[in-house]
Amino acid sequence: MSKRDYYEVLGVPRDASTDAVKKAYRKAALQFHPDRNPDNPEAEEKFKEATEAYSVLSNADNRRKYDQFGHAAFSSGGGAGFSDFSGFEDIFGDIFGAFFGTGGAARARSGRDLRYNLEITLEEAASGIEKNIVFSRATSCGDCGGNGAAKGTSPETCKQCNGAGQVRMQQGFFAVSRTCPVCSGRGQIVVKPCSSCSGSGRVSSETELSVKIPAGIDEGQRLKLRGEGEAAPGGGMAGDLYIVISIQPHKVFVRQDSEIICEVPITYSQAVLGGDTMVPTLDGEINMKIPPGTPTGKTFRLKGKGIVDMHSGRRGDQHVRTYIHVPTNLTDRQRELLEELSGIEGTPAANDSRTFFDKVKDLFD
Ligand SMILES: [Zn+2]
Ligand SMILES: [Zn+2]
Repeated sequence: MSKRDYYEVLGVPRDASTDAVKKAYRKAALQFHPDRNPDNPEAEEKFKEATEAYSVLSNADNRRKYDQFGHAAFSSGGGAGFSDFSGFEDIFGDIFGAFFGTGGAARARSGRDLRYNLEITLEEAASGIEKNIVFSRATSCGDCGGNGAAKGTSPETCKQCNGAGQVRMQQGFFAVSRTCPVCSGRGQIVVKPCSSCSGSGRVSSETELSVKIPAGIDEGQRLKLRGEGEAAPGGGMAGDLYIVISIQPHKVFVRQDSEIICEVPITYSQAVLGGDTMVPTLDGEINMKIPPGTPTGKTFRLKGKGIVDMHSGRRGDQHVRTYIHVPTNLTDRQRELLEELSGIEGTPAANDSRTFFDKVKDLFD
């Protein structure tokens, strides 16, 4: 297939002004742009063709060569007329900038966000605490001030993208805008790299930070420390640091939001007669009264002994579930008393368990 004449492609006469060429291309580009014609190879082909024609005819030098030698003027390089598109980018940006929402300004890349997993105890979560954390992160190089250039030199503006960090139409025709491959989006080229950071502008350094953890924080919650992530390449915004909280399982307490739950053993005689028992709380041990006739599973509420709710500021309760501890190694005296008790106990009292036996009887009748 032979190449169509560039003037014919854009539908302009051979003596068309640069302005007319630009207008014609704009019309063709908007009509055949791949973004507006998804999965349409014919439009793709037309867009390619128009873009190529425009890239040549919009440049006075290239247009003169084309007028003189035709397509042969550009066939050797393989770049199909794209060997010189430094001015082309600007006009392309001008054409598409408003329409496709891609501005021409260099977008400063920001540093990566970091995540730090911090494990704390339930007591620390309940009271709040300040913790020192140590981690390594990329920070701005002190010797070059982060620009990556050796002492006494400074980075040069990237010629490929004119400092924009973005190029349009690098090889394929369909990348509307992409990161400049020459400067990796920085817009600048370090000619003589700083020896401390090898020109990256960043060095890895051990960082110690003091983190304030608010009382009431719960498993999986994150604290965001703005700007404490990695330094940006080329002096952009630093990333953020996320502290992700996990809470160690507690030996005694189970947490449920702002409530805590624990189980406390009582003796058989305490259960029957009542009495005092020591109960652990987040604030230390306290004495709790067991009323006479306390069965296994009876739960008592200790008001305000839970964990503070971060939103309301209200402190939750502690729930104490009792269970009767059954001893396995009795002293002789204990055994003697229990045997005596057993002898006079008889069957369980009517109001307790008779109903249970009644139910069992019903079951087999
Ligand atoms: Zn440096
Ligand atoms: Zn560049």
